[in-house]
Amino acid sequence: MVEKDRKLITRREFIRIAGLTATSVAAGSLPSDNPAKAAAPASQQQLSATGKAPRPWWVKSVEKPTIEIDWDQLQRFDSRKTMRSTGFAALIGKDEYEHLLRVAEENEKQRILDHMPGYTLKDQALNAAQSTGARGARSFLGPQNAQIPQERGVPPWSGSPEEASRLLRVAMRHFGAATIGFVELNEQTRKLIYTHDPDGKELVFQDVDQATETATQRIIPQKAKWVIVYTVQMSIETVKRAPTAIAEQTTLLSYSRGRDIQEKTQEFLRGLGYQCLGEATNNALAIAPALAVMAGLGELSRLNRMITPEFGPMVRVFKMITDLPLVSDQPIDAGIFEFCKSCKKCAEACPSSALSLSDEPSWETEGPWSNPGHKAFFENSESCRTYMTEKAGTNCSICFAVCPFSKKNKVWLHSWVKAGVAKLPFLDGFLRSMDDAFSYGAQKDPEQWWWQNLPEYGIDTEQTLRED
Ligand code: SF4
Ligand code: SF4
Repeated sequence: MVEKDRKLITRREFIRIAGLTATSVAAGSLPSDNPAKAAAPASQQQLSATGKAPRPWWVKSVEKPTIEIDWDQLQRFDSRKTMRSTGFAALIGKDEYEHLLRVAEENEKQRILDHMPGYTLKDQALNAAQSTGARGARSFLGPQNAQIPQERGVPPWSGSPEEASRLLRVAMRHFGAATIGFVELNEQTRKLIYTHDPDGKELVFQDVDQATETATQRIIPQKAKWVIVYTVQMSIETVKRAPTAIAEQTTLLSYSRGRDIQEKTQEFLRGLGYQCLGEATNNALAIAPALAVMAGLGELSRLNRMITPEFGPMVRVFKMITDLPLVSDQPIDAGIFEFCKSCKKCAEACPSSALSLSDEPSWETEGPWSNPGHKAFFENSESCRTYMTEKAGTNCSICFAVCPFSKKNKVWLHSWVKAGVAKLPFLDGFLRSMDDAFSYGAQKDPEQWWWQNLPEYGIDTEQTLRED
């Protein structure tokens, strides 16, 4: 069999493959950071006139598919005959079909009770989260469609807070979250939960077992003590076109992805036997940047928003509350807030002068939109909103686009920052100048975006797998 397969490769193809292999071996002996030998990243390759991405040389366009088709014999087909539920039930009969469903249900229960790898309660909860969530609407209590353990006839999931934290992180990364952190609610951190949601409903902590929602209130059980904070990546390539409709839709896409992750997580935790209370509307439940900072997802910045080590400010932040005990995370210091003190690039670029140009943060807030009690670079949100409405016609995000941390290749900047910029503040100005000199923060041409070969959602989902 192996011999036969080998004969399928022509002599010419063999020489070509051998040549390429030799080239790649030679290239592999060069330093990996040699830019002259580095292949152009996929995102720098241009699309064809019809928008097709380049494909490998061994993919050829042919006139007919590689299976034979008799178009005279082929007719339109009735989808109900396929072996999905209706076609299968019709073929084997209703009684036999229902018998099989009962067998499947009993087997599923037994596998959970036997802790069969791949079929445990956590696996089934993950599976149910995919099939019952994603109605496309945010809600405090979640879709509530997934089977709870009692309905399956099995006990709720149990494990240590460490195990619970791992399970939840892995599931949420799979659902599309970029980074995930946890904050335990105590007398202090509870102050970061809003008193009222944007729709006017009051958020009330009560000594009850189950969360409920009335016409005027959303009741959070006291035992729901853990906040899940998560980020969703935004596409740098579109935000670099701010302020335009192309840039604005990035925010909308991120919010819809955040909503989808929320629903799936709510269903996943329900499937494990726990409650998960989400944002009933956009920007509801709690102060996102504050909780993200407490969860160590990033640091507050001159934008008065969070900047992450992995994605800079190119994220949207979301939060939920659960009664599943989790391990609280710690805040981080990656030198970002310190860097902001001398950088000021966002404030200088802001067309509405909404961002602070002060050398140091302040305890004094700018207006009623700010929550006092933390020392920050408070922004003038009124100027910002006025500019967006009156001039931009879309949301703005220029400040996000020009930030030196908004780049795909953050190696040089983070290396310097990590190396101790926080401890050697005089270097911050030098790094800002370097960023200006290489135009890393420059905004890009909106039309050129329509010709770029970009990954799905325009984001690099492997960013957190590398150590930049
Ligand atoms: S979004 Fe635009 S107007 Fe608002 S602070 Fe940022 S740069 Fe200024
Ligand atoms: S542009 Fe500079 S000052 Fe503004 S948030 Fe980014 S690093 Fe901080």
